[in-house]
Amino acid sequence: MGFDILLSPPDVGEFEQQYVLRAMQSGWVAPAGPDLTAFEQEVAARVGVAHAVGLSSGTAALHLALVSWGVGPGDVVPVSTLTFAATVNAIRYVGATPHFVDCEEETGNISPALLEQAVAGLTAQGARVPVIIPVDLLGKCVDYDAVQGVAGAAGARLLGDAAESFGATYRGRPAGSFGDASVVSFNGNKIMTTSGGGMLLTDDRRLADHVRKLSTQAREPVPHYEHTEVGYNYRLSNILAALGRAQLARLDDMIKRRRGWRERYRALFTDQPGVRILGGADDAEDNCWLTAIVVDQAASRWSAQQLGGALDGAGIETRPLWKPMHLQPVCRDLPGLINGTSERIFSHGLTLPAGSVMTDDEFARIEDAVRAVIAS
Ligand SMILES: *Cc1c(COP(=O)(O)O)cnc(C)c1O
Repeated sequence: MGFDILLSPPDVGEFEQQYVLRAMQSGWVAPAGPDLTAFEQEVAARVGVAHAVGLSSGTAALHLALVSWGVGPGDVVPVSTLTFAATVNAIRYVGATPHFVDCEEETGNISPALLEQAVAGLTAQGARVPVIIPVDLLGKCVDYDAVQGVAGAAGARLLGDAAESFGATYRGRPAGSFGDASVVSFNGNKIMTTSGGGMLLTDDRRLADHVRKLSTQAREPVPHYEHTEVGYNYRLSNILAALGRAQLARLDDMIKRRRGWRERYRALFTDQPGVRILGGADDAEDNCWLTAIVVDQAASRWSAQQLGGALDGAGIETRPLWKPMHLQPVCRDLPGLINGTSERIFSHGLTLPAGSVMTDDEFARIEDAVRAVIAS
């Protein structure tokens, strides 16, 4: 512990303080308010969707999309295994069964071929597959054309987990605009933050209206408190939305800084055999949220764990890739189509600091520590 260079700390300062202060001074401290409405409109415009619903987290957005679609016990939901637990937790909140699908070697994103195979197998068994949830890993979009084809052929909805890819694009189209709905996250370590928060993005007005209602305890539009369905307390607050508006105004600058680190990591490892950057050479459309390497120790003669240990000793925070969900004790005995790729990436991967607040001097310290391991 005691890291002085963090993996991905929040990048907030005076600019954000002004927005938050103005929201407080306006008197809109109570949950909803004009900054929330404006933030939703600004995000919807940026992503190019008709509707955005501000929620307390990305997890809440995943959960409410599934609730609104009536996904529940007996349903099977194919999902990336190489992801953060939140994606899978939302499936379990509604009592459905996650079906883990392994990933592509180069990107760690869900393999469309395995997904197709998994869905075909499930349909042959007579399983109900109402929705598929792919995840844009570390800010690179999944192959949406292929995944959408599989979902369309199966008559399943597509819920895109774009929690890590806000600001990225796929074939020119923004992350968060694919499928029947997408979710983004504004958690503290994401590319932009509201300290905690998320959004549901969709072109489907009925879904957006329903999720907005569910997120505010499912109150019917009458003066007394009338409820015809179970609600949730999941709405994003106006103050946090003000913070989000400030961050959104700086998003492109923050992406540019993270892309700068990506390029420097690429240069740093370019002559090092056995090391590749997860996501591949073509990252022009990625938001470069985090940079991870995958190390082939036979060629590099050092391991991801060794490098992580050395950086740790120098006060530099690193992290393994997400531990595949099918390996998690909490997911023991859950089904899936696993071919070993995610396990390999997990065992040989390391995520490196890439915050937009990181300074050149700090990056130079990382370079020195890495070069020392390479030279050892
Ligand atoms: C961060 C994250 C989430 C959850 O977002 P929260 O806002 O923290 O609830 C979901 N999926 C993925 C892939 C994430 O990285």
